[in-house]
Amino acid sequence: MNGDKIIEAKHVSKWYGAFQVLKDINLTVSKGERIVVCGPSGSGKSTLIRCFNRLEAHQEGEITVNGITLHNKMRNVGEVRKNVGMVFQHFNLFPHMTVLMNCMVGPMWIKGVPAAEAKKTALKFLERVRIPEQANKYPIQLSGGQQQRVAIARSLCMQPAVMLFDEPTSALDPEMVSEVLETMTGLAKDGMTMVCVTHEMGFARAVADRVIFMNTGQIVEQGVPKEFFDNPQHERTKLFLSQIL
Ligand code: ADP
Ligand code: MG
Repeated sequence: MNGDKIIEAKHVSKWYGAFQVLKDINLTVSKGERIVVCGPSGSGKSTLIRCFNRLEAHQEGEITVNGITLHNKMRNVGEVRKNVGMVFQHFNLFPHMTVLMNCMVGPMWIKGVPAAEAKKTALKFLERVRIPEQANKYPIQLSGGQQQRVAIARSLCMQPAVMLFDEPTSALDPEMVSEVLETMTGLAKDGMTMVCVTHEMGFARAVADRVIFMNTGQIVEQGVPKEFFDNPQHERTKLFLSQIL
């Protein structure tokens, strides 16, 4: 095993055809650590975290997730996904299932958990994201913020070792951003290991142990939030921060 490292990426490179989207990425995420990944659009942030749960394959280097080593071949996809929760920009709930069923099917179908137990767990996590009263509704009947909280609860039901967030608030109406960030902050306080791609810099300052800045497929700079925001080292980081802050 690899101690308390939950994710370890070593010299990871990836190409889409001739285009190199990830360039020699080295990154370790320890148990309980909260990482924020930021950077301009197209810099490879989504691709990187999608490699961590095998939604994408990398071609060079090695990624180890909760003790499972991922090579360039798409083996052990199922095993990895049991360990990694993912929340997307556009929620990606199952539209034809109730909120409760959305939260039950992963544990039932992937882990073989009995329905009664899956239901109990689902209700517990819907309680935790503070929408137990929505359990029997369908996703379309919920606001964007509520749907995103269901997506978080659904991931938590799998009891993942790490949660990945890909711009979870960027598709939300402004008034719904804070309820999702509060949910994420709560998870962080409870000790969840998290990798969050987000441009919510208030969240990054308050919650992140480390902020990572990506540009053109590389990790250009990283640091604790205070250093990163107050004293960025690279010109590209300074430019990016001046554009979003
Ligand atoms: P970010 O999340 O930082 O905006 P992405 O990881 O989505 O960046 O994309 C990085 C680069 O890879 C972009 O130039 C994008 O156009 C390209 N890209 C993303 N997905 C694909 C794909 N499936 N095929 C080809 N190019 C892709
Ligand atoms: Mg992206």
